[in-house]
Amino acid sequence: MDEKTYMELLDRAYRIVSPKVQRRSEIPRLRVQQIGRKTVVANFNEVVERLNRDAAHIAKFFMRELAIPGTVEGSALVLHGEKSPRILEAVYERYIKYYVVCPVCNSIDTELRKEGRIYVMKCTACGATSPVRPL
Ligand SMILES: [Zn+2]
Repeated sequence: MDEKTYMELLDRAYRIVSPKVQRRSEIPRLRVQQIGRKTVVANFNEVVERLNRDAAHIAKFFMRELAIPGTVEGSALVLHGEKSPRILEAVYERYIKYYVVCPVCNSIDTELRKEGRIYVMKCTACGATSPVRPL
């Protein structure tokens, strides 16, 4: 079996056993730009919409993790400091892990709800309600 055939089979196997792998690929990648000493996530609105989260919640997480101030300006998140795209990707991955992916079934079709003073994640795929870490 040549490598191409093998990869095609592998792809097919993934699609069959693991639709969530496909879903995960629907999460947009960050478009990071360095403008002067600022780091800009140019497609922040796209991220907010796809993840179905409050822009302020995601922005706050980035600012806290990176320990720099920032503002949402139009469709972009402007961080007031120089951070590499790789560092931003790592923060983004953590956000997705903590606040987007259902820990029960791994779906990304979840909602974040505030119940009293805490946030809980409600999964629209499996119905599970899971506590999330405070922000
Ligand atoms: Zn679930």
